[in-house]
Amino acid sequence: MKRASIISIGNELLNGQTIDTNVSWLSGKLLSIGIPSVSSYTIGDDIDSIIRSFNLASSDADIVIATGGLGPTDDDLTRQAFAKFLGTELQLQNELLEKIQNFFTSRNRQMSSKNKIQAYIPAGAKALANNLGTAPGIMAEAKGKLFIALPGVPSEMKQMFEESVLAELRRLAGRQAVVVRKLKCFGTGESNIAELLGDIMQRGRNPLINCTVRHGVITLHIIATAEDKDQGQQIVEKDEKSLRNKLGELVYGTEEQTLAEVVGERLAKKKQTIAVAESCTGGGLAKLLTDIPGASRYFTCGWITYSNSAKTSEIGVPADLIEKHGAVSEQVAQAMARGARKKAGTTFAIGVTGIAGPSGANEQKPIGLVYICVDSDSGCVTERFIFHHDRDSIRLRAAQTALNMLRLKCGID
Ligand code: ATP
Ligand code: MG
Repeated sequence: MKRASIISIGNELLNGQTIDTNVSWLSGKLLSIGIPSVSSYTIGDDIDSIIRSFNLASSDADIVIATGGLGPTDDDLTRQAFAKFLGTELQLQNELLEKIQNFFTSRNRQMSSKNKIQAYIPAGAKALANNLGTAPGIMAEAKGKLFIALPGVPSEMKQMFEESVLAELRRLAGRQAVVVRKLKCFGTGESNIAELLGDIMQRGRNPLINCTVRHGVITLHIIATAEDKDQGQQIVEKDEKSLRNKLGELVYGTEEQTLAEVVGERLAKKKQTIAVAESCTGGGLAKLLTDIPGASRYFTCGWITYSNSAKTSEIGVPADLIEKHGAVSEQVAQAMARGARKKAGTTFAIGVTGIAGPSGANEQKPIGLVYICVDSDSGCVTERFIFHHDRDSIRLRAAQTALNMLRLKCGID
């Protein structure tokens, strides 16, 4: 199995000036041709650091790809370091010099003497053409491994990779494959998922199960490395089955699916409709639902009834109910959902009321307290939640949770 390591070179990456987008793009590309990345390093423009990182990267990878530092200025030192690492000298390639000169002539510009350095390539290495800029890339074999230096400018790096590197890496990778399946879960915490999965999350296993969390959505990545795609697929499918068995209805979808997408698809399929009455989420739930193209098939309308009087005048929440239980209460969430469903005439309606903070809490009603009610013909389902972190997270989590309740509790399977 061929493995890769990626080195990002440039002081601007270390001082917070530039976000390293090259490494994520490259590792994604490598994975798509069956080559997993085992490490990535970010280092400054310094010859010794570059050589050190070439050695380190090649200690557990067969392919080392560096980006950056091929420019014409004195702080661009990758080509010098590459030559030193190979134990050779930089050699002028007249063909490259001509190309760089033509680059400037065709743009009616004078070539600076500084650019001449870009026509120097370590002896024995191969120059990679740059059709967008002046810096050629470099490819060389050493100690049975492949070393590649690409420009730092993302557009130049991508073009050079596609045109001059990809075919060679495909050849090296042969039929080997990395197959990834993502399972999306909602409704519990990361540690509970890990507990439910047990040994299956052990390191060093094939497939490897990785877990990432974003706004309450837990994504389980099932990553199989295999001799070919079919074998990878089989490995992944076997684990997917056992993960689904262990997690049951916590799994709501796969790959990039969102809760709103999954819920929307189900509503559309059953020709059912939904309306929302929102307080603390301020339209966030309606936004999630209508972010999905084709939402008009099932989303009817929404009310943002932020004040008590709006709750009463717009969707008929009795004023004395608010007076008695407070706007953030199970009773008001229910009345909001019922009122919205009655007015909109939909299959379902959701009512959300809560305290997003940072102010507005008291001893009985802390920040993050949210009541969500889903109303339908079969009655009301109301739940009480306490969400954490800041205002944005509480509101988003409340909206996502409302979608999840709709998915789970209302007979849409
Ligand atoms: P050039 O020939 O254009 O000088 P170079 O190989 O020397 O290319 P750098 O000078 O290191 O590249 O960087 C050029 C530009 O590319 C800078 O704007 C830098 O911020 C950006 N860049 C470099 N590395 C990365 C990276 N890993 N991710 C995103 N942007 C990057
Ligand atoms: Mg640089």
